[in-house]
Amino acid sequence: MEQTMNANTNINEVFSKRPLIISGPCSAETEQQVVETATRLAKTGKIDMLRAGIWKPRTRPGSFEGIGTKGLPWLQQAKKITGLPVAIEVATGKQVEDALHFDIDVLWIGARTTVNPFSVQEVADALRGANVPVLIKNPINPDLELWTGAVERVAKAGIKQIGLIHRGFSSYGNTEYRNAPMWHLAIEMKRRNPEMMIINDPSHICGRRDILLDVAQKAIDLDFDGLMIESHIDPDNAWSDAKQQVTPEKLAEMLDTIIWRKEDINSEEFHAALEKLRQQINHLDDELLQLLGQRMKIADKIGEFKRNNNITILQTNRWNEILQRAFKEGGKVGLSKEFITKYFDAVHMESINHQNAIMNS
Ligand code: PEP
Ligand code: MN
Repeated sequence: MEQTMNANTNINEVFSKRPLIISGPCSAETEQQVVETATRLAKTGKIDMLRAGIWKPRTRPGSFEGIGTKGLPWLQQAKKITGLPVAIEVATGKQVEDALHFDIDVLWIGARTTVNPFSVQEVADALRGANVPVLIKNPINPDLELWTGAVERVAKAGIKQIGLIHRGFSSYGNTEYRNAPMWHLAIEMKRRNPEMMIINDPSHICGRRDILLDVAQKAIDLDFDGLMIESHIDPDNAWSDAKQQVTPEKLAEMLDTIIWRKEDINSEEFHAALEKLRQQINHLDDELLQLLGQRMKIADKIGEFKRNNNITILQTNRWNEILQRAFKEGGKVGLSKEFITKYFDAVHMESINHQNAIMNS
């Protein structure tokens, strides 16, 4: 990774750096905490941008709700000392105005704001005419249309540099993660917006520091453009999100441990080998599709059979038997139960649709 940018660095240059690493406390607490965090982060030479929450959307009232506008000059001060550009979360028009007034370099829209089109529109209206990059976190619920809608609202306000932050999705009773990553949704968002930067926020996915590295590595393996990870000079005593924060030095250690992948390399040998494997995958996919087509033809026959004898399509016992067989056979060739369940759910639904068409024809 390159060295930290100096004070005159143009924000466009920072924004296009890969991997882009953003770090800083969940919340700005005191001037001393912001400046010391920034200084220690800058000293590692591994950070491109400082983050800090000024207004904190908290699930329950009574927890620390952010220091407010008075923290903005602290960020200016941290930027002056370290040269690191600064990023904060905005959720209202007034917050956008204040942030721009205090020369905040990058704004982000938080997960609890992305869910609400009224709020996103208010933020977008306040952004009109501003020349500031905006990062948009996924909504707390797994809905790509809401995420896309937020991107469209901000783009319509004339913001040219828009990036995405994948911070996971909330679900009741999830124990491993604070917010389930649901990687397939981030991958789909990336597929829909190939030119748009997407970074991963392991802190809010994990909610605890012991698994940050695993999630960060997975994001890099999936070709994310960067990471936003919370850091604090005294993580255990942080005023918000204490369990998931790490010291600047611990973060630097983590960044050193990550295996940074390239999307591509200039080697004919590598490309030839990869191409060969991809051809094999294509052949197998073709075969699978042929087989699935055959399977559906048989389902059609069963449908006719059931129609002629006037019996129900869904036969719960049979469905259980199919799944149990698949777990057993699939397990032998290294397929997870989770995958088999999803796959057979989809195949079974398609079968039911086929039979439905026959039964009612
Ligand atoms: C944050 O970044 O501190 C934050 C509140 O994140 P999210 O919007 O992902 O919950
Ligand atoms: Mn946080």
